[in-house]
Amino acid sequence: MMQTILIVEDEPKLAEVLRDYLRHAGFKTFWIVSGSAAVPWVREHAPALILLDLMLPERNGLEICRDIRTFSSVPIIMITARIEEIDRLQGLESGADDYICKPFSPREVVARVRAVLRRTEGGASSPPVGLIMDQSRYQATLNGHDLGLTAVEFNLLQFLSSKTGQVCTRQQLMDSIYPDERIVSDRTIDSHIKKLRKKIALANANAEVIHSIYGVGYKFELQEESMPLSA
Ligand code: CA
Repeated sequence: MMQTILIVEDEPKLAEVLRDYLRHAGFKTFWIVSGSAAVPWVREHAPALILLDLMLPERNGLEICRDIRTFSSVPIIMITARIEEIDRLQGLESGADDYICKPFSPREVVARVRAVLRRTEGGASSPPVGLIMDQSRYQATLNGHDLGLTAVEFNLLQFLSSKTGQVCTRQQLMDSIYPDERIVSDRTIDSHIKKLRKKIALANANAEVIHSIYGVGYKFELQEESMPLSA
């Protein structure tokens, strides 16, 4: 199957040259001019790689890159017109996999595209599977989807997931999210759990990960749903 390369570039001539070379090299291409259209397109179509211009009308490449990284680890090559930008971008941990400076030779771009695809092959271009908790940013992603948790929900999920397969009582959960021994009711926990489940369902409708254990509390279990059922 041909891999699709998305080109986000507002200079038509440049985009045209890239398309020609990439098609010649055996890739399918799709070209988007506007920064605001790029993210929704990527969500819909999951390209194999993105060539992303830094300076775009409406939204710059850096913002687009960060947005895409909240739901996908698709390889991104950032294109900038200033060589000194590259240092800055690398320092920012922009989320891009490689950087190319204008003016470039289209041949070089094709070589870089191939190199990045080789490097990231084997799952890196599809969203990571499972639950990833980033404590420094209070960010939890499930199968590549950012859950958008509050700090309390994050702590709750972290505690539950650290006890995978074990039943946690409401008291344990309360202690985990309110270490200052604040008095909170059982219903507070239940309402946090409810919101947490809703957010998990939004990210992945098939993932039933927080199970109620009647009269006791809750249990976290992440089931692998990716295996196809055999006949
Ligand atoms: Ca530009």
